[in-house]
Amino acid sequence: MNYYSTPIARLIEEFTKLPGIGRKSAQRLAFHVIGLPIEEVEMLASAINEAKLSVKYCNICTNLTDRETCNICNDKKRDRSIICVVEDPRDVVAMEKTKEFHGYYHVLHGVISPLEGIGPEEIKIKELLGRLTENEVKEIVLATNPNIEGEATAMYLAKLLKPMGIKVSRIAYGIPVGGDLEYADEITLSKALEGRREL
Ligand SMILES: [Zn+2]
Repeated sequence: MNYYSTPIARLIEEFTKLPGIGRKSAQRLAFHVIGLPIEEVEMLASAINEAKLSVKYCNICTNLTDRETCNICNDKKRDRSIICVVEDPRDVVAMEKTKEFHGYYHVLHGVISPLEGIGPEEIKIKELLGRLTENEVKEIVLATNPNIEGEATAMYLAKLLKPMGIKVSRIAYGIPVGGDLEYADEITLSKALEGRREL
């Protein structure tokens, strides 16, 4: 039995397709939208449309941008000798928030995952290699996630990059701030130990 009229049911259906939105939240969002003044609904719809239509890959780092070249690649004050490789545009934001990294980025848009049929050609590795022709880059920091696919991708890249005479490093990871050693799993703890540094 259909409890809602077709347009409402359709709107709920569309919301449930969004990540992290269950049926209940979708209903709440749908009724919220229906309760909004028409101008606000139009603003929401046009923001979604515009974001989708105007956002593209930066022609250097493949991060998402609404220009040919993104703001970071356009920033000439950054360190040209170092590139941080990440999986996802959101990782760039996370790194930028630390204010600790002053080089440039490269966004892979995924990781190598044989199980899901994602090989090196399916992510932006070719574009990364294309950036390394001018000998300006001295170090590549591999900041893929610390899981099986992220590790495998980092290994693959390290093998590819080292013969080019580029220093390849991997971000250290381990115990989260505020975490407790006692509750850390073995892999996390051993990685934390591996990534130790002198004080
Ligand atoms: Zn860029």
